[in-house]
Amino acid sequence: MPTQLKRYILTHEGLNISVKEYRASRSLKLIVHTDCTITLTCPPRTAKIRAANYILRNVDWIRQAVERFRTRPPKSASNDISVSPAQVKDLREKAAKYIPQRLQHLAALNGLHFEGLTITTTTSKWGSCSALRHIRISCFVMLLTEELIDLVLLHELAHTVQMNHSPKFHATLNTLLPMHNEKALNKKLKAYNIKKLR
Ligand SMILES: [Zn+2]
Repeated sequence: MPTQLKRYILTHEGLNISVKEYRASRSLKLIVHTDCTITLTCPPRTAKIRAANYILRNVDWIRQAVERFRTRPPKSASNDISVSPAQVKDLREKAAKYIPQRLQHLAALNGLHFEGLTITTTTSKWGSCSALRHIRISCFVMLLTEELIDLVLLHELAHTVQMNHSPKFHATLNTLLPMHNEKALNKKLKAYNIKKLR
């Protein structure tokens, strides 16, 4: 831990900058932290006016950095879910009730056709679609929100017309999604991590 010598707060137009002197510091350095707090580290015995001037010269940069962190969505809290064998059984039953009718509904709504459906207990992927248009869906989708379940189902339905992950596929999928937001939804989906307990 570097030795901190002196610490005070400088205020400039609503910005609070915590000024810290460090013995090992050789130059002035501004840091905007992800929680939007601002620190100016400086060498020992840096005059307050020098610190203030440095902040003044860099105030645009500070505001931009603060704004960037302020508007950045919080790092998606990852959803690590561990599921017991009893819960797997339960999810499988729920999926068997919900997925066939939902998949059928989404297919009919979009004029798409699939040949068959299997509910699996795989944790490695949410779903798949064979060249013969047989769709497999993991029962663990039942742990997702409805919009993400639909994403998984529509992803596989999009494969009934595009058997790849080409730009054409993503374009197709986006037309199927009510908000045309595959990227945003995929990001949410990625946050989920399902683990089967033994
Ligand atoms: Zn796919």
